[in-house]
Amino acid sequence: MTSILYVAKPGLVAPAPTIDVLTRKITAAFRQGKSTGRRWRGTHACSCGAQSDNTDYDLPGGQVTNSLAIHYMAYHREAVAPACLESVAALTDEADPTPEEMVAPTQFQGPCVECKKEVVLWGRSRRLTSSSLICDSCIDKLCCDAGAAR
Ligand SMILES: [Zn+2]
Ligand SMILES: [Zn+2]
Repeated sequence: MTSILYVAKPGLVAPAPTIDVLTRKITAAFRQGKSTGRRWRGTHACSCGAQSDNTDYDLPGGQVTNSLAIHYMAYHREAVAPACLESVAALTDEADPTPEEMVAPTQFQGPCVECKKEVVLWGRSRRLTSSSLICDSCIDKLCCDAGAAR
């Protein structure tokens, strides 16, 4: 049994999903797969804010993945291990993923509340809402100030 497509630290998010033969292959495999019934506490969530359900899925080729597999392939291709890419490349069927299956990252965009510089932030990176965007350099400064005041 080979696990594929668990991405621990996805890092950067691609601005647009990559929909190529590999994304279509994992989509087809995922649609043919079925839930293992193994449940985790809570849901899987990617660092970019994308959420999946809390079960693992058995794919037809014997691999196991979670419901963010298509998301990883589409948005975090650079973080997918080469061995995973190879096992996906070995699949035969292809299907076009829907936007729902790809799970778009949660993106916040707007002026920083401190310096007014335009910022784009992803998902859970800074536990922010769209009305309290703050850029990296300002949040570092604020954290230091808060620490000094204590
Ligand atoms: Zn993600
Ligand atoms: Zn700022």
